[in-house]
Amino acid sequence: MRGEAFAYVRAVMLPTLSNLRTIAVIGAGTMGHGIAQIAAAMGADVRLYDAVAGAARAGLERIGKNLAKGVELGKVTAADRDATLARIQVIDALAAACAGADCVIEAVPERIELKRETFAAIDRAAPPHALLATNTSSLPIATIAAAVRDGGRVVGMHFFNPVHVMKLVEVVRHSGASADAVALAVGLAERLGKTPITVSDSPGFASSRLGLVIGLEAMRMVEQGVASPADIDTAMRLGYGHPMGPLELTDLVGLDIRLGIADYLAGAIGPAFQPPQLLRDKVAAGKLGKKSGEGFYRWSPDGKRIG
Ligand code: NAD
Repeated sequence: MRGEAFAYVRAVMLPTLSNLRTIAVIGAGTMGHGIAQIAAAMGADVRLYDAVAGAARAGLERIGKNLAKGVELGKVTAADRDATLARIQVIDALAAACAGADCVIEAVPERIELKRETFAAIDRAAPPHALLATNTSSLPIATIAAAVRDGGRVVGMHFFNPVHVMKLVEVVRHSGASADAVALAVGLAERLGKTPITVSDSPGFASSRLGLVIGLEAMRMVEQGVASPADIDTAMRLGYGHPMGPLELTDLVGLDIRLGIADYLAGAIGPAFQPPQLLRDKVAAGKLGKKSGEGFYRWSPDGKRIG
């Protein structure tokens, strides 16, 4: 019944993949700037909006630097760099960014009320045919979709950091999502050069849930004196072929971010996700990982590991 109700409300068809030309990206931080970059590189006209003055322009500068690095490494031609940058427009108002968009991708901070407010505003401004996607890494898509009149056109598109490098996109399907919206998101992820997987709207999706199990267990092993952080990380790199160990990865993601997701998953799934005391203590002491200079390792201001 729920699906039928959504289908009835959605009188306007979603665009086809080949008609999907204009993409609005809401939030221009770590993830938003990367999403804007790959969308423009794919050939879309991109509108980049951020609520903080100057942040979208700073995002555009980061894109310029990423592309310059690509040119330096011979992965991007100078002509493609210029064409990609020319397709990105910084826009100062959310409504103007969303007007005329065929797809809106949201990448604002991980707070459910902020996501819902943002989607209500996107819903008022975007054309009724537009696909609406959230880049949340853990929050329930159905709760976000409920802020939109036609929640059937809302999907999760969970990109990974750094967006222009990492190949995975989790397409998250909530119970009221239309099959067309999910199929369009999968097609879009492929056109963006990514490998999509489809996941149901369950806490932590596939990647955050599995990644956290290993990360939290590694912390418990440090607490119990099983091995040092460096040796635990080496075990997973050399023993299992992971490109990075779970504690080094925690330093990159941010200990505060991992604590937030662990607390949420402990409530939503069960005590296996209860954060170790060591994680709570480090966060309370301001040891948040690479961004604060110390987590399980020490980091220089230019992001190099120093201990
Ligand atoms: P970030 O803090 O780097 O960027 C968020 C941006 O949103 C900031 O520039 C901020 O000014 C802007 N913003 C705040 N309120 C806004 C609003 N109301 N409207 C428009 N812009 C607003 O955060 P991030 O790391 O890019 O994370 C964004 C989303 O992506 C979160 O849901 C996060 O869970 C998810 N995510 C993050 C990562 C990661 O590794 N950082 C990976 C995958 C998914």
